Amino acid sequence: MDVKQIYLPQMENFAYLIGDPSSRTCAIIDPAFDPKKILNTAASYGYTITHVINTHGHSDHTSGNAAIIEATGAQLCIHRADAGQVSRLLTRAISRILGGKGSPPAGLVLEDNDIIKIGATDLRVLHTPGHTPGSICIYTDGHVFTGDTLFVGAVGRTDLPGGSMLQLIDSIHTKIYTLPDDTIVWPGHDYGESPSSTVANEKQTNPFT
Ligand SMILES: [Zn+2]
Ligand SMILES: [Zn+2]
Repeated sequence: MDVKQIYLPQMENFAYLIGDPSSRTCAIIDPAFDPKKILNTAASYGYTITHVINTHGHSDHTSGNAAIIEATGAQLCIHRADAGQVSRLLTRAISRILGGKGSPPAGLVLEDNDIIKIGATDLRVLHTPGHTPGSICIYTDGHVFTGDTLFVGAVGRTDLPGGSMLQLIDSIHTKIYTLPDDTIVWPGHDYGESPSSTVANEKQTNPFT
């Protein structure tokens, strides 16, 4: 399995390409700001995008949905509790400000423990509410994509509508810190001293958990 981290500097976001080398198909996690850069990344590695996965419904993770899906016909995957948010008027308005368009509705509405198949690669949905009610992390052997739930050395904010610090900390402890220690943590923003970390390192050094 291939992981490419794609830096989107406007709000220090990371989008991700998760590629299945045998089928040359891939998923894109959290496209925003610069969908051309994301499409070009996939093309440069010879990957066809079959799925767009949003770790949650905020515009800085979803404003590229429309452009990627229009270009590829990929299926949009988002947790049930955030699925309504991507097509809401306010989110559409913010997406336009961020240079994107309103998102199409979800094609695949996710629940905890669902498996998204990318060729021969299984991606497991971990429902991790706290930053938003429908926040998810995506786990596949050796890698976890943590969106705005867990950053390198920090955690997501919980002062926005639907946020809960108690839930966030519980989600991190029960869903992320129970993964194998050497699992690589791939966050949704470049807020830390390095662009990725490990479960063991966050357990030992993250001051918020
Ligand atoms: Zn967010
Ligand atoms: Zn964010």
